[in-house]
Amino acid sequence: MGSMRFVREGLKYMLPNKKGVFVFIGSVGGLLGHLNTEATPEYIRNLSPDEVVIATGAGPLLLPIPGADLPHVSNAHDVLGGKAEPAGKVVIVGGGIVGVEVAEFLTDKGLACTILEMKDSIASDLGFYRRILSAEYFQKVGVKCIVNAACKEIRKDAVVYLQEGQEQTVSCDTVVIAAGARPLPTEELCSACDERKIPYHIIGDAVQARRALNAVAEGVETAIKI
Ligand SMILES: Cc1cc2nc3c(=O)[nH]c(=O)nc-3n(C[C@H](O)[C@H](O)[C@H](O)COP(=O)(O)OP(=O)(O)OC[C@H]3O[C@@H](n4cnc5c(N)ncnc54)[C@H](O)[C@@H]3O)c2cc1C
Repeated sequence: MGSMRFVREGLKYMLPNKKGVFVFIGSVGGLLGHLNTEATPEYIRNLSPDEVVIATGAGPLLLPIPGADLPHVSNAHDVLGGKAEPAGKVVIVGGGIVGVEVAEFLTDKGLACTILEMKDSIASDLGFYRRILSAEYFQKVGVKCIVNAACKEIRKDAVVYLQEGQEQTVSCDTVVIAAGARPLPTEELCSACDERKIPYHIIGDAVQARRALNAVAEGVETAIKI
């Protein structure tokens, strides 16, 4: 999303002066490469480019708790990407920026949402004004926020959490995990580059899931280096 747009814009001006074949893996594909194309190690071997930028982003962090793999449990990436459709009473595990966006998205569709957050406040990673707007919206639409709550187990009809040493439950029909993200694996793409001695750069969330600003900065730095 972020980093590749800036690499793309920078490269539009810089590439005409460069000789060679470059591969950009990530959302830059729309302008410089191929849409609907998964860059695989085979793709890199066949193309044998002069340089590769890997910006494949991050995927959801899995929660190592009992019940996280039950069929009524999905993750924020799939819900926001339209691949999963929670229904009924939804419990969202994780009240950071992503959990908040999931709650806004689902309440817009008329679903009843409860957010479980282990820290002492919701949306602590959001800016001040955005946090106030979300809090007002949650109050208006009735999103329930439970803080200091560490999720322990997911059952068919309830989520179990620990709060001040006490085990509690909140009932649910479906559960969405929004407990963070981790870089998607890049080892195979890197190995393919190493085999052919192709220089490569890993940027954005593919290094570590952070903010768009980090991805954009690394996109600009990479565009300048190339
Ligand atoms: C719900 C949510 C809300 C967020 N809100 C904010 C916010 O308000 N502010 C903020 O600063 N940040 C926010 N972020 C974080 C921000 O979205 C990321 O930091 C940023 O998008 C990272 O950019 P990127 O280019 O590294 O990766 P991405 O934007 O994830 O792009 C990676 C792209 O690579 C493609 N891809 C993956 N593998 C391959 C492959 N093998 N071949 C070809 N293509 C591939 C993917 O399909 C994807 O399009 C949010 C994240 C989420 C999930």
